[in-house]
Amino acid sequence: MAHRFDPVESMAAARHEFGEHGGVNLSIEASTTFTVMAADEMPKIFRGERGPFSMQAGNATGGCYLYGRNFNPTVYTFGRLLAAMEGTEAGYATSSGLGAIAAVLLQLCSSGESIVSSQTIYGGTFALMKEFFPLKTGIQTRFVDITNYQEVARALTETGSKVLYCETVANPTLVVADIPALSAIARRHGATLVVDNTFSPMIVSPAQLGADVVVHSVTKYISGASDVIAGAVCASEAFIYSMMDLHTGALMLLGPTMDPKIAHELTLRMPHLGLRIAEHSRRAQIFAERLRDAGAAVTYPGLPEHPQHELLESMANPGYGLGGLLTLDLGSIERANRFMEILQNEHSFGFMAVSLGYFETLMSCSGSSTSSELTEEEQRAAGIAPGLVRMSIGLTGSIEQRWGQLWDAYRRIQQS
Ligand SMILES: *Cc1c(COP(=O)(O)O)cnc(C)c1O
Repeated sequence: MAHRFDPVESMAAARHEFGEHGGVNLSIEASTTFTVMAADEMPKIFRGERGPFSMQAGNATGGCYLYGRNFNPTVYTFGRLLAAMEGTEAGYATSSGLGAIAAVLLQLCSSGESIVSSQTIYGGTFALMKEFFPLKTGIQTRFVDITNYQEVARALTETGSKVLYCETVANPTLVVADIPALSAIARRHGATLVVDNTFSPMIVSPAQLGADVVVHSVTKYISGASDVIAGAVCASEAFIYSMMDLHTGALMLLGPTMDPKIAHELTLRMPHLGLRIAEHSRRAQIFAERLRDAGAAVTYPGLPEHPQHELLESMANPGYGLGGLLTLDLGSIERANRFMEILQNEHSFGFMAVSLGYFETLMSCSGSSTSSELTEEEQRAAGIAPGLVRMSIGLTGSIEQRWGQLWDAYRRIQQS
């Protein structure tokens, strides 16, 4: 069997950064500015002849540093781990997922150009493309059904778009993007494929399947503790460096900079990311199977009934399961709300809160929360029913304890 890419092996092979005094953990470079030892070094840094991104140096950490918004070694080290996870040449961390997404799209598109995007994406990204960009930049977006390749290809031809955008596993419908197929279509049309891999870090490695740029909301699974907002871009060295360019770089000039203290903390969470993801997946799989067996309207890509189950299996790295998110359609918003209230207020099963990837279960009614940027019609087109509850399955408590709570709430809603 051909050796497959494994993010855990890739991360373990990345250079280990020791602390300044020989500590096993890296030090925090808590400086916003950096000295030079000779005055004539400074103009060279500004000309790009010296510095972390100097191509001449051929080594991203070989030169002199300039200023924290441009480059910070601790943030860079975290970015290097993320790049190892995705198997890309380079990566850089940002202060939020949306900051990373906006910067990537602005780096790739100029005024008057356009984007072809999946219609089923995170609400904030949707609002950015549908409302903010046309208003502020003249960049237009055509939204398509990402599983309909003819529609995707037609949209790219008709718009001449430079960018094809999708989420590996879409929010909140859990529709899976066929990354190899979309990458082939993008390539034929000279477009860059940008994939948001927030729902499936470790599980899917989009860059290994043909994606050009991978973005993350690190806020979710990578952080795992719902305590920091953070994001990342993983791509070729040339693309990452272009985003740090002093004159034309969207990361450098828009400034969604990650604090080095946050980068340091997140670096310490990377070694157990794989373990956490595997456990989130294992539990979601068990709950989804039991709910399905009880006749519930459950959607989970780990179920053979999911329309893209085999596709996701074919793209997934073995050992991490098929994700920690499932959705349950309770039929109406009233029933969905009652269901979540029982689970939170009677059982401490989890929390009614947006977001995902937390060690506790998070539940939200997508149509009236994280997807409320979509109109009713757009929600219908995207397959978001009003009573749809999205659950990000946590990893606390025992499985039977949690299942007992979930089943009690479900049974009571069914009987009401
Ligand atoms: C949360 C989220 C984002 C936005 O990330 P922030 O870190 O909140 O800025 C983008 N994409 C997806 C899929 C998300 O879940």
